[in-house]
Amino acid sequence: MKRSHNFTCIVCPMSCQIELIEEDDKILEVRGNGCKRGEEYVTEEFTNPVRMLTTTIPVQEGRIAMLPVRSERPVPKNLLRRCMKELSKVRVKAPVRCGDMIYENILDTGVSIISSRDLSIGNCSEVR
Ligand code: SF4
Repeated sequence: MKRSHNFTCIVCPMSCQIELIEEDDKILEVRGNGCKRGEEYVTEEFTNPVRMLTTTIPVQEGRIAMLPVRSERPVPKNLLRRCMKELSKVRVKAPVRCGDMIYENILDTGVSIISSRDLSIGNCSEVR
């Protein structure tokens, strides 16, 4: 049975409303896109949606209590919840440099989680 899926393209500010028609998960047609990049965007969103992961991790002996971290590349959207659960077990010890690896190859995705900022040693109560 043919089915229609609607997307708003986020690749550029034009925000084209794109319709993807598929049958049994096979893409038959993409329409409404203003350019090729829109077709690529909805094809990926339909077949393998990915998202950047951002969160914070508790810090020991740091100037702030929580370290902001992010995935170095987008991870599969359907793994985000499991990735967050895995990261909830992690603690980081200061000092940390921006870009330092915090968790390598999370859930065998090939993507590592890295620090989003520098963090020096200190007592987090100093900055409150
Ligand atoms: S389809 Fe092309 S023109 Fe339209 S929002 Fe996406 S990138 Fe921009």
